[in-house]
Amino acid sequence: MEASEGKSKKQGASRLCCLCNQRRPVLKRPKTLQQICKECFYEVFEEEIHQVIVKNHLFKSGERVAIGASGGKDSTVLAYVLSELNRRHSYGLDLFLLSIDEGITGYRDDSLETVKRNELQYGLPLQILSYKDLYGWTMDDIVKMIGLKNNCTFCGVFRRQALDRGAALLKVDKLVTGHNADDIAETVLLNILRGDIARLSRCTSITTGEDGPIPRCKPFKYTYEKEIVIYPFITESFSLHTYAYFKKLDYFSTECIYSPNAYRGFAREFIKDLERLRPRAILDIIKSGEDFRIATTTKMPEQGTCERCGYISSQKWCKACVLLDGLNRGLPKMGIGRARGGVNGDHQKETKKPASAARSLESKQCGSLDF
Ligand code: SF4
Repeated sequence: MEASEGKSKKQGASRLCCLCNQRRPVLKRPKTLQQICKECFYEVFEEEIHQVIVKNHLFKSGERVAIGASGGKDSTVLAYVLSELNRRHSYGLDLFLLSIDEGITGYRDDSLETVKRNELQYGLPLQILSYKDLYGWTMDDIVKMIGLKNNCTFCGVFRRQALDRGAALLKVDKLVTGHNADDIAETVLLNILRGDIARLSRCTSITTGEDGPIPRCKPFKYTYEKEIVIYPFITESFSLHTYAYFKKLDYFSTECIYSPNAYRGFAREFIKDLERLRPRAILDIIKSGEDFRIATTTKMPEQGTCERCGYISSQKWCKACVLLDGLNRGLPKMGIGRARGGVNGDHQKETKKPASAARSLESKQCGSLDF
């Protein structure tokens, strides 16, 4: 009798949220596998991000901060959460949305409509810069010329610089991006696979570019993608609920039509498989990336400025200028990979760049990455 009573009490307790012990759980947290209620999910999700911001001293009161906004799930949730935390904890930040229009018909034009709605929904001023205005080329034009190989190299290089230019226009002190824990673990793995030591050493940093024009921060460094959006079904009593879903946030979920989904796609799938077996795997990969030490004999690229546009560069011309020059001359392959010739080809010969830096010229696919 006592034993069955104890058993039914235990079963009753297991139906309650393991954090508040009061409400019914509606999901199993992907990060910890705890069964928790909606209210506790919001609380831990936001509180963890707040703690990351505070412990890493990401912002100072009075700073102007641009949120790289693509209209996708990560940057939309970031814009929402950062606005909430800014208000709740009186960070004293002036927040802005900064979007880049790569000129991808049927993808970016639609996602930018979402950002425009976010501008009104969150009351954050929006600045949009386009590749067409900055470089004279859209990604549609570039793909027409070069096809679907290496398109992401052009896009990634141009976006990086476009974001910096947008941040300078807005006169912000920091730029934040929605890269999440899965993205960072994936990048650690890719950099190991490519032997890209220069990037490996900085891809886990929560703030980068402190020596460049605008520092960039990743407040979602430890936030699991599944918690932002995709919660895989565990038992029948749980439904597909996530932060974005619960909060009914307005975001765009289609992948880029030019996404190659190749190498990065494999790394992504591998990490998802590991996560299924052991959720901590994502955090452990990030930790491994953080703990790598670079041998003092490894030659790192020296930072200078581009002779053509003045942007930071370890070469005579920055990568965007080399790629642009190739496009304008009808020789788009000129700046790709390890090809010699052209302005930086000669320069590479003189300075004997380390392999890691040369490889960084290869395709840096964003895949479905959200800025
Ligand atoms: Fe640009 Fe990303 Fe599309 Fe590649 S997948 S073309 S980097 S938006």
